[in-house]
Amino acid sequence: MKALTWHGKGDIRCESVPDPKIEDGRDAIIKVTACAICGSDLHLMGGFVPTMESGDVLGHECMGEVVEVGRENSKLKVGDRIVVPFTICCGECRQCKWGNWSLCERSNRNGKLQAEQFGYPGAGLFGYSHVTGGYAGGQAEYIRVPYADVTHLKVPESLTDEQVLFLSDIFPTAWMAAENCEIKPGDTIAVWGCGPVGQLAIRSCFLLGAKRVIAIDTVPERLALAREAGAETIDYAEGKVQETIIELTKGLGPDAVIEAVGMESHGADTMAQSLTSNIMSHTISMERPFALNQAILACRPGGIVSVPGVYVSFSPVAMGAFMNKALTMKTGQTHMLRYMEPLLRRIEKGEIDPSFVITHRATSLEDGPDLYSTFRDKKDGCVKVVMRP
Ligand code: NAD
Ligand code: ZN
Ligand code: ZN
Repeated sequence: MKALTWHGKGDIRCESVPDPKIEDGRDAIIKVTACAICGSDLHLMGGFVPTMESGDVLGHECMGEVVEVGRENSKLKVGDRIVVPFTICCGECRQCKWGNWSLCERSNRNGKLQAEQFGYPGAGLFGYSHVTGGYAGGQAEYIRVPYADVTHLKVPESLTDEQVLFLSDIFPTAWMAAENCEIKPGDTIAVWGCGPVGQLAIRSCFLLGAKRVIAIDTVPERLALAREAGAETIDYAEGKVQETIIELTKGLGPDAVIEAVGMESHGADTMAQSLTSNIMSHTISMERPFALNQAILACRPGGIVSVPGVYVSFSPVAMGAFMNKALTMKTGQTHMLRYMEPLLRRIEKGEIDPSFVITHRATSLEDGPDLYSTFRDKKDGCVKVVMRP
């Protein structure tokens, strides 16, 4: 089959790779009908995530048709149309039972590797390095879904692929980020990053009752899309983020802040290098505005800092401000299965159609490598890429 593969920093290829096979009774094989490129894939493309290997199949946002099921999988049958969450969940361990799906204790078959780094294995992820299990991803014609009897959401024929595809990651991620803000009527929320996650977070905040949303980025098309949702915007390249937020909130600061940028905003390239030597000894690059610390400094005392942005290594957090302002931080890989079904209902009711973020479409994986660059460089107004393998 054809798949997009990783071959080192900036080197994404479309290649022929072996078709996936059933390896366990709970597995299913999915024929991918639509898949997307995520901001998290850019961390891989940038070489910021350790333990990637040449030839690894990329992609963790996908959906499609079930073409084969393992013997013990009674929940799926050939022909079912499903969205695949980016986190793999066993459904049986303590964390899965508690609904903390992204902390599944069994789905990361290389859990020991991640535990060495974070003291905890974390769930297996598709197409996201060997510390998270080394599972082949869904930017491919077919994908093997482990624990597929639990790790899936069936979707109705009445909705198009584009309407439901983002239930695989960015819509639940944005929703959890907004829910973590514990929004009360009248609240003001500030969102750093107007990429696909930021865009859906802005809309989720309004759906959850926020009165105002202030959105920060520098890409004109992305700021414009945020304004369409009703957000007030700040271009961080103008250098006055804190002052403008203070002015807009009459000195109070936002009730909660969302950091939807991730590690690149403060020199993750140096961090990634340091990972291979000594994490704690690396020097911090503050050349670029560090979104997380800007968010901490802007948040009103007693407020919440919600961080969907991905970090894989040591990061310099403004702990003095954080402690003295008595802030609360909520973060994590998204607990996908908590949100997929309820958000599907919201899409069905017409409350939101997440496909508004799509700007680039491809009918072949061959276009994938170019589209990775377009998305990374925010060329041609690119906000989100969807491919139909
Ligand atoms: P993206 O790269 O398309 O968007 C990031 C945006 O942040 C860009 O528009 C960029 O211009 C902007 N930005 C960069 N530096 C900034 C700064 N200092 N201040 C304000 N804006 C800045 O990515 P995305 O797909 O929207 O994803 C956003 C983040 O969410 C990534 O870190 C991604 O890995 C993460 N993510 C997390 C989860 C999860 O489960 N927690 C799931 C999906 C994505
Ligand atoms: Zn993603
Ligand atoms: Zn589990």
